Amino acid sequence: MRVLVTGGAGYIGSHTAKLLAASGHSPIVFDDMSQGHAWAVKWGPIEHGSLSDTHRLRDVFARHQIDAVIHFAANALVGESMSSPAKYFRNNTVGTLNLIDAMRGASVDRIVFSSTCATYGNPVRVPIDEMHPQAPVNPYGESKLMVEKILRWYGECYGLRWMALRYFNAAGADPDGEIGEDHDPETHLIPLVIGAALGTRLPVRIFGTDYDTPDGTAIRDYVHVMDLADAHLRALQRLDDGSASQAVNLGTGRGHSVREVLTTVAHFAGKDVPAVESPRRAGDPPALVADPARARDVLGWTCRYPALEVIVQHAWNWHSKNPTSQST
Ligand code: UDP
Repeated sequence: MRVLVTGGAGYIGSHTAKLLAASGHSPIVFDDMSQGHAWAVKWGPIEHGSLSDTHRLRDVFARHQIDAVIHFAANALVGESMSSPAKYFRNNTVGTLNLIDAMRGASVDRIVFSSTCATYGNPVRVPIDEMHPQAPVNPYGESKLMVEKILRWYGECYGLRWMALRYFNAAGADPDGEIGEDHDPETHLIPLVIGAALGTRLPVRIFGTDYDTPDGTAIRDYVHVMDLADAHLRALQRLDDGSASQAVNLGTGRGHSVREVLTTVAHFAGKDVPAVESPRRAGDPPALVADPARARDVLGWTCRYPALEVIVQHAWNWHSKNPTSQST
């Protein structure tokens, strides 16, 4: 398949492009390079462009015989979405609308969409299955939920076939060490803890030590980026097989606390990680853990790298060999 990978120069997009190529598909990356990296595009051509540019989108579909789309391109910082909601609704929601309209114009009818557990808002039960109420508590989650709703109606009315993959916490790096995580600014726990351990970043702040969890710190479901990539390929395959369009959680089903992440990184560092206890970060729920049963049943997906130790090991290998990528 010739697959348009929007955001293919970014973290999860580049790992998916690698896996697509390794599986015999042809990824064509579409990226505005606002957050992506040229070094992360190695497995096919790149088309520079913005989802706000409808002419450019039409042009890309006209020049490549695209069979399907995997759509990663988005802004994904919860805090920023609270201060700049317009950016999130414009880039994430309107941008996706432009993309699926361009698909319609080119008669491309399959899309795998990066959704998020942020569409659930504050969990009323954990683990979270796909039937959990969706009540986002920030514009980021809302911008993605709006897209899920649009996809549903485009399916109903235009025959679009879609899968919305609701990620929990993407983490880790390519086990081969070719690509990895590099955000600027970096806000994610694992790269920040590794940077603190390597001395390339400031001591890590532990956001909240008074949660109602066994060690008082917040619990998240960290899922290996290569397992996420694998789920995207499976979702494409299911759409090809005629499976129903639907939303699917992607998580391991196991949660780890912030302190557990620190302990795991300390193991690889061979010393304690410099850390400061800090107040809770606004909007952080105490625990987010996926019920991955539907991913198993629908996609036949189970994690190849479920262990936090392995996720951290791959991230550690990447960050210790690419210290220049940690400029902030
Ligand atoms: N976290 C932390 N210190 C940091 C960054 C994150 O304690 O410098 C915590 C955060 O409060 C959350 C968990 O680590 O409980 C994962 O945060 P991250 O930003 O990586 O992902 P999120 O869950 O927000 O998508």
